[in-house]
Amino acid sequence: MGDMIRTVQVKLNVPDERCDDLHRTKDQFLYCANTTAEWAWGCQNVYSITSKQKAESALYDQLRGETELTANLVQKGIRRAIEATKSGVARLKNGENTSQPHFDAWSIVYDKRSATFHRDHVSLSTVNGRVECDYIIPDDTAGTPIGEYLLNEDYEFRMSTVQYDRPTESFYLHARMRRVERDEQEQSTTDSSDAKHRTVLGIDLNVDGSLAVTSTGAFIGNADEMNHRRREFEKTRGSMQQTGTRSAHLSIQSMNDREHRWMQDELHRASNRILDEARDHDCTHVAFENLTDIRNRMAGAKRFHAWAFRRLCQYVEYKAEMSGIEVAQVSPAYTSQRCSSCGFTHENNRRSKHQFVCQKCAYQLNADYNASKNIARKLLKSLHSGQKSSGGGAPCQCALSSGTLNLNGEFHASVNTTAEGESTDKPRLQS
Ligand SMILES: [Zn+2]
Repeated sequence: MGDMIRTVQVKLNVPDERCDDLHRTKDQFLYCANTTAEWAWGCQNVYSITSKQKAESALYDQLRGETELTANLVQKGIRRAIEATKSGVARLKNGENTSQPHFDAWSIVYDKRSATFHRDHVSLSTVNGRVECDYIIPDDTAGTPIGEYLLNEDYEFRMSTVQYDRPTESFYLHARMRRVERDEQEQSTTDSSDAKHRTVLGIDLNVDGSLAVTSTGAFIGNADEMNHRRREFEKTRGSMQQTGTRSAHLSIQSMNDREHRWMQDELHRASNRILDEARDHDCTHVAFENLTDIRNRMAGAKRFHAWAFRRLCQYVEYKAEMSGIEVAQVSPAYTSQRCSSCGFTHENNRRSKHQFVCQKCAYQLNADYNASKNIARKLLKSLHSGQKSSGGGAPCQCALSSGTLNLNGEFHASVNTTAEGESTDKPRLQS
C-alpha cells in the first residue's frame, strides 16, 4: 500500500498589501534554487551524485545571508535544485541531451514548518513575516477535489506549493493531501508528548507594548491598541449613558458586540502566531505564567486584561492540542527580575518597564523578552525534575531565537528555526 496523495488546487485570498511579500519570497526562493543548481551542476563530475547534505553545508550560510528567507525556505530551495540536478545527471548518463536546471516558474515550496495549513486558510512564511490567506472555496464542493480531500479530515496536508497565475493575477495553493490511516492518527497523538525531545516556548504577557513576547524573540499583538480601543469605547459609552434614550442604549449594546468581536479576532490572530512560532521551532510545550491574581500582581492590569489573557491562553491551548503541543502555566515569581543570561536575580535588575539590565553581568535586553526566556526555563525545569532520571532521559531545551538552550546552559545553534543566526538576544519584530 503506497501513500495515497492527491493534489488539490485552491485559490488564495491574499491581502492586497501582502502580494508583494509573496512575489519577493518567490524571487528569493528561485534565487536559492538557481544558485544551488549552478553549484551542483558544476561539481557533478567531482561527486558522482550530489547530496542535499553536501549542498546545504556548502551553500546554506551564504544563501541565508543573501536572502531574507526563513531557514526552512532556504533549505527547500536547495533541495528542490538538488532533486532537479539529480534527475538531470541521470538523464545525461542515459545519453540524453540535457543542461543545468534553471528555475523561473512562479512557485514556492511549503511544508509544515514554513506554512500552517488549516481547512479554511493557510499561514505562509514570507520575507516579511507570515501572511494569512483564506481559501476561496466554491459554494458547492460535493464531489470536487476540494470537498473530497481539502475539507476532508481523513486527509492531511503534505509538502505543497504556492503558484501564481499571471493573466488573472491570482495566487493558488497546490495542496498535496495524504490519506491518514486511523491507527496512524492515534499513534501520532500519543507519541508526540513523551518519548521524543522536549522544547519549550516561553510566553510573557503584557498590559502595554506587545501583548505577548516569546522566548524566540517574537513580539506579538498590540496591547496599546487594545487599551486605546477600550478607552475610546468607555468614553463614548459614558457620554451615551448620559443621554439615556432607548436608541443610545441600543448602540451601546451593538458597540459592546463590536468591541467584543474585535478583541476576540485580535486574540485569535495572536494565538495563531504563537502556534506558528511554536511549530517553527519544533516546540513540544508552550509555557505561560500563571494568571491567578494577575490584577494584584501586574501594575496596570485591569479586569479586561485578565479576561484577554485568559482567553488568549484558552485559544492557544485549544489550537495546540490539535498539533500535539502541550500548554502549561508556571509560577510568575521572579521571572521579571532574573537575568536570563547569568541567573542573577534582583529587583534592581529591571531598569525600566521595557529594558532589562543585569546588575551582575551587565546583560541588556528587552525586559519582556528576558521574562519569556525565564518562563520557558521554569517549565523546562519542572519537566526535567518530573522525568524519571534513568540516565537516557529525553533532552530538554528552551526554544530561543537562534537555537536552543538546555538546563546545563549549553547552547545549540539551530538550522531549522526561522530566526537569525548571529545573536540569541536580537528580538525579531513581526508586523
Ligand atoms: Zn546577568
